Amino acid sequence: MKKSDWKNKQVLVLGTAKSGIAAANYLVEAGATVTVNDGGTPSEADQATLVGLGVKTIFGEHPLSLLTGVELIVKNPGIPYQIPLLQKALEMGIPIWTEVELAYQATDATWVAITGSNGKTTTTTLVHELLKRQARPVHLAGNIGFPAIEVAKNATDDAIIVIELSSFQLMGMHAFKPASAAFLNLSPAHLDYHGDLASYAEAKARIFRNMDENDRLVVNAEDDVIMDLSQATKANRLLFSRKRSAYAQVVTEQIVIGETRILPVDELALGGGHNLENVLAALALVEPFDIPLDAVQDVLRTFGGVAHRTEYIGTVKGRKVYNDSKATNNVATEAALSGFKAPIVWICGGLERGADLTPLLDAVTHVKHVVGLGETGPRFAELARQAGIDATVVLEMTEAVTVAFDVSQPGDILLLSPASASWDQYKTYEERGEHFVRSVGSIGGEAK
Ligand code: ADP
Repeated sequence: MKKSDWKNKQVLVLGTAKSGIAAANYLVEAGATVTVNDGGTPSEADQATLVGLGVKTIFGEHPLSLLTGVELIVKNPGIPYQIPLLQKALEMGIPIWTEVELAYQATDATWVAITGSNGKTTTTTLVHELLKRQARPVHLAGNIGFPAIEVAKNATDDAIIVIELSSFQLMGMHAFKPASAAFLNLSPAHLDYHGDLASYAEAKARIFRNMDENDRLVVNAEDDVIMDLSQATKANRLLFSRKRSAYAQVVTEQIVIGETRILPVDELALGGGHNLENVLAALALVEPFDIPLDAVQDVLRTFGGVAHRTEYIGTVKGRKVYNDSKATNNVATEAALSGFKAPIVWICGGLERGADLTPLLDAVTHVKHVVGLGETGPRFAELARQAGIDATVVLEMTEAVTVAFDVSQPGDILLLSPASASWDQYKTYEERGEHFVRSVGSIGGEAK
């Protein structure tokens, strides 16, 4: 939709946050009549911004009367479809979009999109770094950049917009059609929101629903569900795998995309087997954009990852220290654990959500000691005992790091990879990761 098409349209923006405010801003500029509704109370700064925009606001409840005359709802991805307001809207046939769909419709720029259960941020950031090395303008949008609508409304037609998309965002997609998209992997995360794996997979499959033979869809050859789901796509489907023959693959320890040898695996700055998958996917995604090979190699030799995602902190007293605070589920932690060959002292645990930990038993082959922290700490210690590994239960991070240094020796890996959310002791996983890094600094001395 062109901007002018919004003139005098009645739009309800649900949820404030950064993306809701950016959506309201764009729609007001476009001449729409906008109401902003939030079930909570936004910060004073956000309220002031909305007053400045001149939109109608309703906070603290979602009255059904809001729907009268509404032609479109732009919904924050976190708001569940189960709330009565949205159930009613669905019944009335009012379209419900997320802000990314609005952004997609606001520009003629080219979109490159990445989805999956794990690895989105790493892959998206790497794709952005790679695309910076070609001639067209490139922007990062969404969770790790500016809100998509803000980027889209300022993007020129020749620009490329790189975005990571969660299943929550994809639920609200309708016309979205990226030129290049990747579906990295699928694990049973977020089931509480989507109900079951099938509807979670269906939401993710929206990434390629509108793609055609001119578009490129990059999928994980090792993931049967994704392979099945994506079979019906009209896009040019290309596979990546670090284990078997695929379009993006590893041949005699070299990364190969199509016919092109890119780089020996051991020259990658990014560590861990799962990151090799992210690299393969990223390279397949950017291949159509003509980046000089030496520039690609340069990025791959220097891009060391994103903070809190198996991030290498440095070597302290001979131990290599990694912060993987973002690993809030088994799959992410399994990936981190399987990326190392040296003995690992593994700090884990956090918020109790009743997850079954036994799948991790297969991943602990290189673990020499488990340091169980937080609400799930004792359950991780129990897991260690089942695997015949020593364990210590601790109450907080400084103690965890002290124990980790005590039980390790030079040459070992010291890894925080909680396989649990942080909310038992911290506001965010970033805060947890920073506390870890600080504790390592104060106990072990400066990293080298
Ligand atoms: P997302 O944005 O999808 O949450 P991140 O790149 O932030 O993904 O990584 C989240 C966690 O998942 C980190 O702990 C990281 O080590 C792990 N991870 C990264 N890539 C993969 C992958 N391809 N498969 C499994 N786990 C991964």
